[in-house]
Amino acid sequence: MTSSASIVLFHTDLRLADNPALHAALHRGQPLICLYVWDPRAAGFAMPGAASRWWLHHSLQSLSDQLKAAGNGLIIRIGKTCEVLSNLLKDFPNSHVFWNESCEPTSRKIETDILSFSETEKIEAHRFHGNTLIDPSTLFTQTQKPYRVFTPFWKRLQGMLPPSRSLSVPRTLPSQPLETLKSTPLDSLKLLPTIDWAEGLRESWSPGEDGAKKTLKKFLRNPVTVYAVDRDRPDLPHTSHLSPHLHFGEISPGKLWHALQHAKQKNHKAQDRKSYDAYLRQIAWREFSRYLLYHFPHTVDDPLYSTYQAFPWSNNAHALRAWEKGLTGFPIVDAGMRELWHTGWMHNRVRMLTASFLTKDLLLPWQKGAAWFWDTLVDADLANNTMGWQWVAGCGADASPFFRIFNPITQGIKFDPDGRYVRKWVPELSDLPAPWIHQPWEAPPLLLVEANITLGKTYPEPIVDHAEARNRALSAYRQFKKSKNSQPSLS
Ligand SMILES: Cc1cc2nc3c(=O)[nH]c(=O)nc-3n(C[C@H](O)[C@H](O)[C@H](O)COP(=O)(O)OP(=O)(O)OC[C@H]3O[C@@H](n4cnc5c(N)ncnc54)[C@H](O)[C@@H]3O)c2cc1C
Repeated sequence: MTSSASIVLFHTDLRLADNPALHAALHRGQPLICLYVWDPRAAGFAMPGAASRWWLHHSLQSLSDQLKAAGNGLIIRIGKTCEVLSNLLKDFPNSHVFWNESCEPTSRKIETDILSFSETEKIEAHRFHGNTLIDPSTLFTQTQKPYRVFTPFWKRLQGMLPPSRSLSVPRTLPSQPLETLKSTPLDSLKLLPTIDWAEGLRESWSPGEDGAKKTLKKFLRNPVTVYAVDRDRPDLPHTSHLSPHLHFGEISPGKLWHALQHAKQKNHKAQDRKSYDAYLRQIAWREFSRYLLYHFPHTVDDPLYSTYQAFPWSNNAHALRAWEKGLTGFPIVDAGMRELWHTGWMHNRVRMLTASFLTKDLLLPWQKGAAWFWDTLVDADLANNTMGWQWVAGCGADASPFFRIFNPITQGIKFDPDGRYVRKWVPELSDLPAPWIHQPWEAPPLLLVEANITLGKTYPEPIVDHAEARNRALSAYRQFKKSKNSQPSLS
């Protein structure tokens, strides 16, 4: 019996293409164990939310099928990673362990444990950067501090690119070292909901590496100028919808980067070439969020600037519930929250609007909104979600200033001019003509009757008056700024 294996730990890199950990394990030339460890004891933000668990189930199924087709298979185990490894080492004491690093605090703690464990057990551990474009520990400002502002970070990042060339999909894999190497059945992870609410997710998505490939192909078929011009329009399907695939690592950021650069080089029109940069910049925002989480892990729960801990947030369970359920009486906010509930995804512009509505109009803490997104998004991603919420709430890196408060009416008119987005997700307003659809309370009574709308019955009255809510938020902010607790300090 062989006493050595190459163990690849899969986590948020559920793919075969451009997977440096897998590639290095194959290069070592030993029997291969592809391992996924589920630790149900992880709690809070370390545990994926409900929509994300649905995705994870299908993504693991897809990875398992791919590995099987290539001659290997996925071994799933439940428990603490080091205990699982320790058990495997009883049969394969001379193994090496390979994985792609994460920026998430809980995963980094597990990775540190594996490093100590491998020293004690005298096995070799190999770490790679398959989830980011660069190693976040290598990039600092001139004063050797982590970047907290996107533009200089982006400038430096560009100097470190391109990422290394994408690694291709291995055609065949060595078989598993033991016939008897048992995998826990995927179903016993209990990732799927017990009451089936996932119909909307099934209609909207194809989790897995193949799904990621098709999604990218479809996106690249569009003229790229469409993205640069219309990426802020929730009524148009012009963003890539790659976020859950990227989150679960079904496509690597490096591969995406090269695909876009390749398309850019093939395109000779100056305007089009500029448009590719608009997309690459978004990928750089993703990179920035990972960088921030790596250097400031406390931001998962607390604002980057600790003074914001003292901000006088409200506590209104009724308002929070109305926001979660898409019943605030502000059509574009409700449309976003219902799109999220149905599909597990929400357009970026509407994420900003709904987050602004929660933190400014309702003055509720950003952590409450982040927790709801965490549970309902299929692309729930600790780095992007944390950065996104703190950006809107005004307490994070490179944040929008607190006094920038999105107006849900003018934003609706600007970015959903015909009301198509609202009509799709808030069907009770579908017969209202465009000028009124973003502010039904201003519509002439006769028009409301003709559209079968009774405000307060068929659709809620606005939960707040936006102008008053804005003043309330600004006044809370001014008072907070005056208080001694608000002196700037980086946590
Ligand atoms: C309050 C709030 C919460 C958010 N929560 C998440 C989250 O949990 N998971 C998540 O993936 N994104 C999150 N975002 C960022 C952004 O909204 C989504 O990445 C984007 O809407 C996904 O759609 P897409 O793939 O079609 O994006 P595209 O426009 O096609 O962009 C391509 C990719 O770039 C990255 N990207 C785009 N915009 C951003 C951004 N503003 N910040 C960081 N990365 C970005 C994503 O990986 C995205 O898939 C959040 C934004 C806000 C304002």
